[in-house]
Amino acid sequence: MRRIVTFHYTLRDPAGRVVDASAGRDPITYLEGAGQIIDGLDQRLRTAEAGAKLTVQVPAAEAYGAPDPAQIQRVKRALLPVAGELRAGDQFQAGEDQYAPVVTVVAIDGDEVTLDANHPLAGVDLTFEVELVTARPASAEELSHGHAHGPEGTGHCQ
Ligand code: ZN
Repeated sequence: MRRIVTFHYTLRDPAGRVVDASAGRDPITYLEGAGQIIDGLDQRLRTAEAGAKLTVQVPAAEAYGAPDPAQIQRVKRALLPVAGELRAGDQFQAGEDQYAPVVTVVAIDGDEVTLDANHPLAGVDLTFEVELVTARPASAEELSHGHAHGPEGTGHCQ
């Protein structure tokens, strides 16, 4: 049985810093096994019931994977869509499309900039503090669509 699950989370990196959290927003909703959340977390929440609070460790390999050296490139400063001063550690979107990847400035060397287009959490082991809010069996229609419907879901099929 695959379920529709909603949960709140706080995500920490190995140093304990909070990377992301759902507090103050709607809980995350997903259909189990549909690739809507990172696989390692999906797998580890399969046995959790509504109301459960648990800490889930997800190694980088089951989250955003290892950094890919091919995603680190040097480009001419003049080609970047960013005005003003750039510093190592700056992040910006590498295009106007809302799904364009976020890149991180690694180094600046004269008129050349080294950019890293890996996911910021690539290579990072993740710790999620999860509060499972609701869990119910997915309907046949949800399974065929591959996503949640109704008040805990996207609602876009209503
Ligand atoms: Zn649907």
